[in-house]
Amino acid sequence: MREFTTYVTHLECSLTGARVESDRIHGLSEAGRPFLVRYDLDAARRSVDRDAVAARPGGFWRYRELLPVRHSANVVSLGEVDTPLIPLSTMARSLGVGGRGEIVVKDEGRLPTGSFKARGLALAVSMARELGITRIAMPTNGNAGAALAAYASRAGIQTFVFCPADTPEVNVREIALQGARVFRVDGLIDACGALVGKGKESMGWFDVSTLKEPYRIEGKKTMGIELAQQLGWELPDVIFYPTGGGTGLIGMWKAFDEMEQLGWIGSHRPRMVAVQATGCAPMVRAWERGEKHAERWENAHTVASGIRVPAAVGDFLILQAVRESDGFAIAVDDEAIEEARIRAAAGDGLLLCPEGAATLAAYQEALERNLVDPSDRAVLFNCATGLKYPMPDRSEPVPDELM
Ligand SMILES: *Cc1c(COP(=O)(O)O)cnc(C)c1O
Repeated sequence: MREFTTYVTHLECSLTGARVESDRIHGLSEAGRPFLVRYDLDAARRSVDRDAVAARPGGFWRYRELLPVRHSANVVSLGEVDTPLIPLSTMARSLGVGGRGEIVVKDEGRLPTGSFKARGLALAVSMARELGITRIAMPTNGNAGAALAAYASRAGIQTFVFCPADTPEVNVREIALQGARVFRVDGLIDACGALVGKGKESMGWFDVSTLKEPYRIEGKKTMGIELAQQLGWELPDVIFYPTGGGTGLIGMWKAFDEMEQLGWIGSHRPRMVAVQATGCAPMVRAWERGEKHAERWENAHTVASGIRVPAAVGDFLILQAVRESDGFAIAVDDEAIEEARIRAAAGDGLLLCPEGAATLAAYQEALERNLVDPSDRAVLFNCATGLKYPMPDRSEPVPDELM
């Protein structure tokens, strides 16, 4: 890979704005909040041309100037691709969506390891390599652990992954097969996170929990840049995002801001919609109450395991993006998720993961409640391949006349 100049300048606490040096190992800020990576966007504006960037080979490494990795030798890659935008035309027709309006799925299931966690973990692992880290640990609901295991093994970094005991079996096995040590924990993802924190000293590992290190969000922000590029630098009206820790939502919001400062896009912003499951909806509750932070959700449960996150360190950043964008937070139940999944698969031939199906269910409900307009251009995020999740058995016996 050729060398690129990164325009990274420093890291900044997302709550207090306190600055620290880049190119050093950092976890949370002194205030116990996530760090955000900052760039010299004025300089980048003068020398990085959006159309030249768009003309490079596909995949998020094309945005190198806006990513923190300094040396190409440290880039860990598994063949990342641009993920396609797929219109749900049958669905749109049946819901009366038309004119300028459309429902488009950004299918992140096409990335290495089958989920958008590849974006964040490719960055976190590449930066770990650059900073000389040799052992990493993380809590996961499945997909993040799989992406970490794959990228870290490729980089020769040891990994320790903690997941709730009821994490989808395929995730637990793919994590182990891709070279990580994986542990089933009797508890939810925050209990797994506590174990990772506990072992930090004694096990000497670096904690890459969601937003507890600064770089996963930089990987996730590439979704926002890629989306803008694919839409001819014209953002959609509304984005439905299945929200767990919220890295993607926060990351895209950051990307929009950076792109405006670079002169790549104008000031128009999509409304950001945080989608959760009724069995675990801390952001929806906080949004409805007008709160700045979200309380932990007790007894969290949903088939959409990727968004079963009872408490998020970046809660205030999620809520801020939703509010600033004039968006909203909405919860859908598991039944609606299953129905939406079946409908998209049978009607439009697109097999969504349950979290992706949640965005479709939420879109339908939002349309009914007039929270969105049929003339809106809506983008839904399908964050993982539907093939990783259990499917109902709909097979039939061979008909008699064929016997
Ligand atoms: C992790 C995950 C999410 C939630 O993403 P965040 O950016 O952490 O909110 C949604 N869907 C799937 C399939 C996931 O793996």
